[in-house]
Amino acid sequence: MSEGPNASDFHDLDPAIRVLMGPGPSDVPPRVLRAMAAPTLGHLDPDFLELMTETQVLLRAVFQTQNPLTIPVSGTGSAGMEACFVNLVEPGDQVAIVVNGVFGTRMVDCAGRLGAEIIPIEVEWGRAADPQAVADALKGKQPKIVAVVHAETSTGVCQPLTEIIAIAKEHGALMMVDCVTSLGGVEVALDSWEIDAAFSGTQKCLSCPPGLAPLSFDEKAVAKMMARKTKVKSWYLDLTMVGDYWGAQRKYHHTAPINMIYALREALRLVVEEGLDARFARHRLNHEALVAGIEGMGLRMLVPAAERLASLNSVCIPAGADDLGTRRALLRQFGLEIGAGLGPLAGKIWRVGLQGHSATERNVRLFLTALESVLKSQDVEAQPGGPEAADRVYARSR
Ligand SMILES: *Cc1c(COP(=O)(O)O)cnc(C)c1O
Repeated sequence: MSEGPNASDFHDLDPAIRVLMGPGPSDVPPRVLRAMAAPTLGHLDPDFLELMTETQVLLRAVFQTQNPLTIPVSGTGSAGMEACFVNLVEPGDQVAIVVNGVFGTRMVDCAGRLGAEIIPIEVEWGRAADPQAVADALKGKQPKIVAVVHAETSTGVCQPLTEIIAIAKEHGALMMVDCVTSLGGVEVALDSWEIDAAFSGTQKCLSCPPGLAPLSFDEKAVAKMMARKTKVKSWYLDLTMVGDYWGAQRKYHHTAPINMIYALREALRLVVEEGLDARFARHRLNHEALVAGIEGMGLRMLVPAAERLASLNSVCIPAGADDLGTRRALLRQFGLEIGAGLGPLAGKIWRVGLQGHSATERNVRLFLTALESVLKSQDVEAQPGGPEAADRVYARSR
């Protein structure tokens, strides 16, 4: 007998029940977890094909689009990003990208690997891009694509899109938007806003486990993809082939992550049940209460009020507070996860997510109370008015 691990060396899987208030994943509703545990069908079983169709109908409703090519790409949000670029970029294409955080930076990396000529539009982290800066950067250029992050999860900025979309159209460029942390939490209306290509992820405001990347291409994006002179540089993410599985043909390309699609379908059903407007209002209300609580404690938000994202709140770490120690204490004492700052914001901010199922009054109150308690234990000066300030926001809404 060869020596190897004994099954008894491994305990039963029993993860703690956390309160996920970081940059993602967010709390997953039990209904979504139950859907995931349903029996696995074959990826060409007629019953599964019907569930695929339903998932696409729901996905179009949530993206507010009629685009036929609206599908969940296999992989996390970054796979959606890569799918957009790999299908739409040909070597030498000019691609303008707004860079004001981790995910704009990731888009530059992604497009650059495909031989795009990048026109970077650098903006201070923690601020939205001024449309004039985009217009100036594009003067005399012929971008094929203008790409922005709608909800920059690394900073908590929500990028206003209307003017940037108009600028992209003036240049005849496709407008590509990263909606990973907005879809299902902050309005995204692909058709009325005339966004040509968009991608998202399941584990942020849709409150599904990570593993799929909702994506949608309009007819202009599909036309650019179909007119390519070169083959799509990724076999797995080639939407001219993946699209045949999700399209009328239902032709095998790769095995769909069946149970993840069950989960996404259930998560989308929950979004539609709640209603988009009610869901956006819930995110906004809890965000306003959280901000009131933070400011009531005498702490500061990183992002100016007009540019704040409801689903990700960047709180400036107060003087004397221990960044890692605070996050550890929140996790150990309260089971509450928040995120750290990234890149130039490391050690400067905490990132508090209010995404999907996690965006609740209970969670906002837990966070404010927990933070107050942890800061007190570190002898950090915080005013005691946080929870009361949040109370006032909730009272006004009732
Ligand atoms: C999380 C996130 C991504 C990447 O998604 P993964 O699921 O981590 O691959 C991309 N863009 C934004 C804005 C995100 O928040």
